[in-house]
Amino acid sequence: MAAFLRGSRAVLHRSNRHVQLTLVSCRSMASKTPVGFIGLGNMGTPMAKNLLKNGYPVIATDAFPESCKELQDSGAQILDSPAEVAEKADRIITMLPSSPNVIDVYTGANGILKKVKKGTLLIDSSTIDPVVSKEMAVAAEKMGAVFMDAPVSGGVGAASLAKLTFMVGGVEEEFNAAQELLTCMGANVVYCGQVGAGQAAKICNNMLLAIGMIGTAETMNLGIRLGLDPKLLVKILNMSSGRCWSSDSYNPVPGVMEGVPSANNYQGGFGATLMAKDLGFAQSAATHTRTPIPLGSLAHQIFRTMCAGGYANKDFSSVFQFLREEEGQ
Ligand code: NAD
Repeated sequence: MAAFLRGSRAVLHRSNRHVQLTLVSCRSMASKTPVGFIGLGNMGTPMAKNLLKNGYPVIATDAFPESCKELQDSGAQILDSPAEVAEKADRIITMLPSSPNVIDVYTGANGILKKVKKGTLLIDSSTIDPVVSKEMAVAAEKMGAVFMDAPVSGGVGAASLAKLTFMVGGVEEEFNAAQELLTCMGANVVYCGQVGAGQAAKICNNMLLAIGMIGTAETMNLGIRLGLDPKLLVKILNMSSGRCWSSDSYNPVPGVMEGVPSANNYQGGFGATLMAKDLGFAQSAATHTRTPIPLGSLAHQIFRTMCAGGYANKDFSSVFQFLREEEGQ
């Protein structure tokens, strides 16, 4: 019913002899309703901007006032706390670093659930532990609100171009209401199952991404040591069975590809810390489900070691540089 009230409106439509009850999608009407957005970092700011571009007034907040400036300049209203946002918006999106931030923003002293209105749709696009997503859904339900997890694949570039992929978990009846907003920010919005299922898909993807990136980095490093020209090696890989996203779209070797973090001293992109965090979730999920992930576990250790060794703020493809430094020892 909450989804019905939020996403559609019953309109009596008289045609000749029949009175039909027509459900009219009220995208245009809903677009007048403010959307709350909490977490205006690398991803949240461009995502919220795309909501503004699609005609949704945005009411936002972030723990750091300076993070709000860009969105405020784009026309969003900035408030002091998640609780204040929850007082004013009945659809709220959160985009936060990790599980502790999500717990704080939802259940903290000035959290969303302190002031949430009944029927509010809460969409968390942060990548967090699926267990925490389930806990937030239970806490939201107690307040009469609906929580869905909708983590994203695609980096800052995809967020800016509204080309993200959203992996959505939660009550299926609410999916259409979530989709209405998420399509303003992404090219693919995929329903994955009950709450936590979006996070499950996301951590599986990122575990494979991490393994693929490490594999690409060590392959390139070996080829270079064998005297191969890196550009030639990339060309061969990308026309052969070793090709993967890390080799053909996000190559970690400086100088072989334009417009990727390796071409910019590994600045921007997806930080090694965030990758280490996601691999930690994969590790924990594998422990709970007694699933062997030997390569995922090793990838976790490699990214943790990188973070401790000064790579924390670099893009995760800097694993190539990390391996280059290791080889001399
Ligand atoms: P970020 O650190 O740039 O932004 C997070 C924002 O949340 C910051 O502005 C921070 O101040 C704010 N915040 C933290 N705690 C808060 C609180 N208690 N109250 C209000 N605001 C708070 O992170 P990001 O790169 O935007 O990533 C966000 C999420 O998206 C992460 O879970 C990440 O794993 C995931 N993700 C990131 C990328 C990427 O390429 N950066 C890609 C896919 C998914």
